[in-house]
Amino acid sequence: MNIDGKLTAKNLRAELAVEVAELKSNYGIQPKLTVILVGEDPASQVYVRNKIKQTQEIGMISDEIKLPADTGQEELLKYLEHLNNDRNIHGILVQLPLPKHIDESVIIAAINPNKDVDGFHAMNSGRLFNGETGALVPCTPQGCIMLAKQHLGSDLSGKHAVVIGRSNIVGKPVAMLLLQENCTVTIAHSRTKNLPEVCQQADILVAAVGIAEFVKADWVKEGATVIDVGINRISTEEGKTKLVGDVDFDNVVGKCGAITPVPGGVGPMTIACLLKNTITAAKQSVC
Ligand code: NAD
Repeated sequence: MNIDGKLTAKNLRAELAVEVAELKSNYGIQPKLTVILVGEDPASQVYVRNKIKQTQEIGMISDEIKLPADTGQEELLKYLEHLNNDRNIHGILVQLPLPKHIDESVIIAAINPNKDVDGFHAMNSGRLFNGETGALVPCTPQGCIMLAKQHLGSDLSGKHAVVIGRSNIVGKPVAMLLLQENCTVTIAHSRTKNLPEVCQQADILVAAVGIAEFVKADWVKEGATVIDVGINRISTEEGKTKLVGDVDFDNVVGKCGAITPVPGGVGPMTIACLLKNTITAAKQSVC
């Protein structure tokens, strides 16, 4: 069975549109997201365009600051200082990856944590780690949990979750969220021994590796819920390219209980959760 990320994201956006309308009528606030794009990476341009479009579609304000690829780190920090101090801006997102001469960790650390809608600032990851409320949680991991619940219902307690990948963007935060949901969590990574056997334990298997069709059918427990975060472009026999996930979908789909397809699974949830974080940041600015 497929878990429909497109539909889940559409439903979430509809709920968020209501919240935006309420914020406007109750507090006179229209949530605003500002996205900074440095350079002309084609994939980043598409992501930013989609983020801005979807933000506006649910009644929020968004704008984009486009900077040339040779923008210096100090200059970018000045932009951030200005945005951090602008009370009309609730969410700031610096599109990654940044050009090599800019240190991403310095830039992430310079974003006001209360406006850090990507949830990558150490203050937000620390709050998530501590299980505190009010953290802005990274978007893709939030989406993963919503999709798992879509199939399993709201109570994930006691499930054994195996997360393959330990990045700050996906693997670690999704593991923290699963722990908050009272799962027993195993984090697997490039040095994990006997990975197929580890994965076979999983009631919930999250793949965030970045290797096309890496997770094979015999790694997956019968009936498991599989959340495929990977986005990998591969060549087809017809000489074209297509997107696939980190899971060997065609062979796993018949064995697992449910799986998120690629495309149409986790991907659409990421932007929907970015909108959610911007609304949370706007709400927290008045409460
Ligand atoms: P990353 O490269 O930062 O991390 C990959 C992780 O996989 C690492 O922690 C590494 O330990 C692990 N790994 C690598 N090789 C392994 C192996 N042989 N066995 C076990 N583990 C191994 O990547 P990331 O940023 O976490 O992204 C992972 C994937 O998710 C990528 O395909 C990326 O494009 C995709 N992604 C999708 C979305 C979305 O919105 N759907 C968002 C972010 C990332």
